[in-house]
Amino acid sequence: MNRELIMDWYEICQLAADSLVLIGAHTTGHYAFSKLDTVATRRQIAVNVARIEAELNRPCHNCSFPYGDELACGPRER
Ligand SMILES: [Zn+2]
Repeated sequence: MNRELIMDWYEICQLAADSLVLIGAHTTGHYAFSKLDTVATRRQIAVNVARIEAELNRPCHNCSFPYGDELACGPRER
C-alpha cells in the first residue's frame, strides 16, 4: 500500500527537475529532536542531507524537522 503513496527516487528526481520545486531533508529516523542529544540530532540531518544530495546530484540546503510541537522541539532546534 505504501508503494502507491510514496515516490521512488526516479519520481523524486523527475519532480526535482522543475525549477519551482524544492526538495529538502527531513531526517533519517523521524525522531522528535527533543529526545536526541545534539550529536544524534546532527547525524539525523547530515545523513539525510547526504542521501538527498547523492540521489539528486545537487546541494540540499533545507531541512524540515519532524513534528513542530513544544515537546518535540525547542530553542535548540529553532
Ligand atoms: Zn514527517
